[in-house]
Amino acid sequence: MRAAVAAQEAGADVALLSKLHPTRSHSGAAEGGINAALGNASEDNPESHAFDTVKGSDYLADQDAVEILCDSAPEDVYELEHWGALFSRTADGRIAQRPFGAAGAPRTAYAADITGHVLIQVLYEQIVRREIPVYEEWYAWRLVVDGGRCVGVLAWDLLNGGLKSVGAKATIIATGGPGRLYAGSTNAYACTGDGMAMALRAGAPLEDMEMMQFHPTTLAPSGVLITEGCRGEGAYLVNASGERFLKHYAPHAMELASRDVISRAVQTEIDGGRGVDGSVMLDLRHLGAERILERLHNTRELSLTFAGVDPIYDPIPVRPGAHYHMGGVDTDVWGRTPIEGLYAAGEAACVSVHGANRLGGNALMETITFGKRAGRHAAENLGGGGEVSESAVRDAQRELSDLVARTDGERPWSIRNELAESMHDNFGVFRREAGMQEQTRIVERLRERYARVVVEDKGDVFNSDLTQALELGCLLDLAACMVEAGLARKESRGAHARPDDYPKRDDENFLRHTIVTWADGRPKLDWKPVTITRWQPAEREY
Ligand SMILES: Cc1cc2nc3c(=O)[nH]c(=O)nc-3n(C[C@H](O)[C@H](O)[C@H](O)COP(=O)(O)OP(=O)(O)OC[C@H]3O[C@@H](n4cnc5c(N)ncnc54)[C@H](O)[C@@H]3O)c2cc1C
Repeated sequence: MRAAVAAQEAGADVALLSKLHPTRSHSGAAEGGINAALGNASEDNPESHAFDTVKGSDYLADQDAVEILCDSAPEDVYELEHWGALFSRTADGRIAQRPFGAAGAPRTAYAADITGHVLIQVLYEQIVRREIPVYEEWYAWRLVVDGGRCVGVLAWDLLNGGLKSVGAKATIIATGGPGRLYAGSTNAYACTGDGMAMALRAGAPLEDMEMMQFHPTTLAPSGVLITEGCRGEGAYLVNASGERFLKHYAPHAMELASRDVISRAVQTEIDGGRGVDGSVMLDLRHLGAERILERLHNTRELSLTFAGVDPIYDPIPVRPGAHYHMGGVDTDVWGRTPIEGLYAAGEAACVSVHGANRLGGNALMETITFGKRAGRHAAENLGGGGEVSESAVRDAQRELSDLVARTDGERPWSIRNELAESMHDNFGVFRREAGMQEQTRIVERLRERYARVVVEDKGDVFNSDLTQALELGCLLDLAACMVEAGLARKESRGAHARPDDYPKRDDENFLRHTIVTWADGRPKLDWKPVTITRWQPAEREY
């Protein structure tokens, strides 16, 4: 939505396509907040924000992109405020900021613990106000590339049925992450990485696909997120004997170390038998009822509803769950992909500002800052084209009709569940060579089964059976890319932890991005250098 507003401001004719009503996008579930060095809670500046982000990324982020993010963040947050975003306030009326993991200052601006909900409403208001047409419940399925240029997209109209062709001189992918690849995920059901898979199949490279972030505090078994804002407000993580175990893993930062460090610590406690029924405990009790009710009311509701626990009186059981994908469609700092006329922004893209580990609060900021840049650049550099050929439509139509007509085969559900369970087991917080090799074979077999998948609903109107089958196809291709990249990265960096064979970071050989392209229905691996501007890689301690 931020990209659409920027493109229209730059004079382009814009339309939005979304498989959901826009305010139902996963961004609306963001709780903790958005990072900008406003300096409202203590001294702060964009340079510290950039350093924290680079260090948090385990030095894999591209530092030119990080500097852009951190320099633009304050202005971009004030713009959201002027559009009507109701941020929580300091006693003297400025935007309040809370401490978040691995941040040198309280830098996370927030609206209680419903920040994403507030921001997405504000952005949608801008779409309505500017009369930007929204084609909602249109499922984009295939990018059309003609003569090396993206000329638009083919989409399935969920409500009425039927394939729609949308010609465009520029197309921006902003389709979010693939968190649904995992059992135990904080992500909404719609987070199936469709845009990444579409770009991959259209010939665009994907970057750092092995970098899936596990959030240390999610509820079992649902995976519902308990925000880092709790630890920002001072909550403790304790094991079965009531010990604040982070003193063994991150003695200085404790509960506010970076997510990869805390997820490994929590998983190690659980694996070592020091957990409680496969979880550890997040203790908020000492914060007191008043603070919990004022700043973490949504967290209290979630844990009451999904765990039957009232955090005013009892600690919340939590464990690591799949949360955010640092990788995505390889773009430059204007959101451009190597395909003319094709852009990407938000979680679907990899600019890369998060490298091997994202800091909490930086993802929302990225969607705004880089969404805006992609929209503006696309509008100011419109090339020719924009016509989708009849043959492209005919081919796509035939493929979809064949899929729906198939009657003999397997429904998608078991494939989807087996994929999510096996990714969790073999490509989770810790990765092991044998497990990743096994996962390569599992994904291959699941892709063979998928080739005979059956869509049971043969109708036109709201055929979610069809779109769910298409989403599964996206997840399977992305899983293949992730495991391929994970096997190639023979080191431990950020979210990619290989405790048995390569427990250390290896800058000499792996201070570089993985790149995956699609060749003959298989992932093909390559590498790309990391951009370093000011901060040489150093040892990372919290
Ligand atoms: C529970 C949770 C809490 C979080 N909390 C925070 C936080 O506090 N701070 C922070 O910085 N980050 C947070 N994150 C991460 C952050 O919210 C996301 O990375 C970010 O919001 C993603 O935004 P996006 O615009 O890229 O994608 P989304 O918000 O997921 O939007 C994707 C859009 O693309 C559309 N779409 C997808 N596929 C198709 C298709 N095939 N055809 C048509 N349309 C399609 C969808 O309809 C949707 O409108 C959180 C994430 C989760 C899951």
